[in-house]
Amino acid sequence: MRVLIRGAGVAGLTVAHELAANGIEVTVAEIAARPGGGASWFAGGMLAPWCERESAPETVVTLGCRAADWWDDALPGHVVRNGTLVVAPPRDAAELTRFAARTSIFDWLDSEEVGVLEPALMGRFRKALFFRKEAHLDPRRAIAGLFDKLAAMGVRFHFNAAPDFSGAGFDHIVDCTGAHCIGQTAELRGVRGEMLLLETPDVTLSRPVRLLHPRIPLYIVPRGNGVFMVGATMIESEDRGPVSARSLMELLNAAYALHPAFGEARVTETGAGVRPAFPDNLPRLESNGETIRVNGFYRHGFLLAPSIAMEVAAHITASRNSKSQQRAHRSSQGTPLANPPHINPLQIGAGR
Ligand SMILES: Cc1cc2nc3c(=O)[nH]c(=O)nc-3n(C[C@H](O)[C@H](O)[C@H](O)COP(=O)(O)OP(=O)(O)OC[C@H]3O[C@@H](n4cnc5c(N)ncnc54)[C@H](O)[C@@H]3O)c2cc1C
Repeated sequence: MRVLIRGAGVAGLTVAHELAANGIEVTVAEIAARPGGGASWFAGGMLAPWCERESAPETVVTLGCRAADWWDDALPGHVVRNGTLVVAPPRDAAELTRFAARTSIFDWLDSEEVGVLEPALMGRFRKALFFRKEAHLDPRRAIAGLFDKLAAMGVRFHFNAAPDFSGAGFDHIVDCTGAHCIGQTAELRGVRGEMLLLETPDVTLSRPVRLLHPRIPLYIVPRGNGVFMVGATMIESEDRGPVSARSLMELLNAAYALHPAFGEARVTETGAGVRPAFPDNLPRLESNGETIRVNGFYRHGFLLAPSIAMEVAAHITASRNSKSQQRAHRSSQGTPLANPPHINPLQIGAGR
């Protein structure tokens, strides 16, 4: 069985991984010159289902709680399991209580405990929430690592592929082109996320730190070697243009509020990605005959793509098995079986 995947973002690469691991011949066509040409490049890489529950349905926890294990199995050594720290400036301390009321599986920390966990933050916050089961990874390293692994597994890649790269000769096409489908896929919209990278030798953090604010909650994710990703805005827009001055100020203010040493950091990169999202902000897997569409990962691509990729692989291997059963039946009986049940659409979301 041969499958064509369009798009080499986190969705396309995780699907490719699950299919190739099941012995399916996979080809990936990517319109950009390298893997991770879309939103995946700008992600924070947080695998934080319990924190995300603050504004997301329980499905995000159910589907996301095994993401760190999946990434660990697929790419050993990439996942950092140090949890997430959530803090708030003293004037916004009520935000912590509100966040705690909407989430679960965390510990309250006092100032001293915060300093034990993150010595750089010693004495800076009176209280914090610690989500010890959460993890993070460097999304760019993970994308590159998956690409190398898939190439070694025999997956074929076509970069700079034409948008209509021919699907002829494939048993299934899996469309993982993310925000590119806005305007073609009903209800899909874009949510712009701006981020920046800071570099400083003067701050050390071991885990993502979320800084609560009533209007603009932001986070800082350590990437190692003094590099920090600061993210991310949430703007209802499909604009991929450069970061606005206002967003830059807000992101820098958050970093400075977390630790004044960020004031001396170098801004080595600013960027913006468009998160593909459906109205319920949950991903969807829709099957229409031989074409399967996987989209709508919103702010949870690295968190939820593994679960959805496993569903895609189960769907495609079930169809392969039913086709080979039909063939076996035909050759023994000489008459065709009725068509296998058609799954259309599979929707991961509310009610599951
Ligand atoms: C600032 C920011 C921070 C984020 N932080 C996190 C986080 O901490 N944790 C988390 O889990 N998620 C996070 N996300 C969300 C995550 O990045 C997205 O959910 C995820 O990248 C979506 O993946 P995707 O593969 O569906 O889309 P994309 O990454 O956009 O990939 C789609 C790919 O398809 C390609 N393509 C487009 N058209 C075609 C075509 N016609 N043919 C072939 N290829 C095509 C594109 O070039 C691209 O490579 C963040 C997002 C942003 C923007």
